[in-house]
Amino acid sequence: MGSAQRNQNSKIARRGLMLVLSSPSGAGKTTLSRLLLRSDRKVELSISVTTRPKRRGEIDGRDYHFIERGRFDDMVARGELLEWAEVFGHRYGTPRAPVIKALHAGRDVLFDIDWQGTQQLREKARTDLVSVFILPPTAKELERRLKRRAQDSKTVIGSRMAKAAGEMSHWPEYDYVIVNRDKREAFAELRAILAAERLKRERQIGLSDFVRRLQAKL
Ligand code: 5GP
Repeated sequence: MGSAQRNQNSKIARRGLMLVLSSPSGAGKTTLSRLLLRSDRKVELSISVTTRPKRRGEIDGRDYHFIERGRFDDMVARGELLEWAEVFGHRYGTPRAPVIKALHAGRDVLFDIDWQGTQQLREKARTDLVSVFILPPTAKELERRLKRRAQDSKTVIGSRMAKAAGEMSHWPEYDYVIVNRDKREAFAELRAILAAERLKRERQIGLSDFVRRLQAKL
């Protein structure tokens, strides 16, 4: 038997998981998401719909699906969103169909959503959900990161700083908390969480078949 065949035989069917990353803006969540997506082909990003205007450098269909308020409301009415929330005066929501498809195919889905969306997902999909809250190391660093991004106007940065304290209060609702002192360290922690969660017995739905095949050869 070749090694390809051997690897095929030892594959265990797995149900995909929903990995939620939340944090106040500027805590480094987007960077961590990008690193994860680049390094792990089994993870795909849930691309939200939003009514917020596109920022410089953002691409429709990659960062968000930028849509009009009327279209957003239609999607809500038709039940096409798994969750949705209003954040900083704009609406954001997670299209349901791509998530369901990915999970059934044994792929993991990464969500960059806020605490309101996480609460809704938890109610709908408790067993599939793994939630991670990212904290900045200091308030100064949060401010520095927001300013460096400088995509938003000064008033928006001010209002995001003011809201960060409120957003941060939701950390106890999450399964894991990472303090993002150093990008590489935080990324290693995120990967460790994902690795352990993938190995949870209940997610490895092909285990009984696998063990049966093993036993048959003994
Ligand atoms: P931003 O405007 O900076 O891209 O995002 C603002 C906030 O909205 C972030 O905290 C982000 O995680 C959150 N967000 C983005 N997409 C969604 C979504 O589909 N649902 C919810 N509930 N929050 C979202």
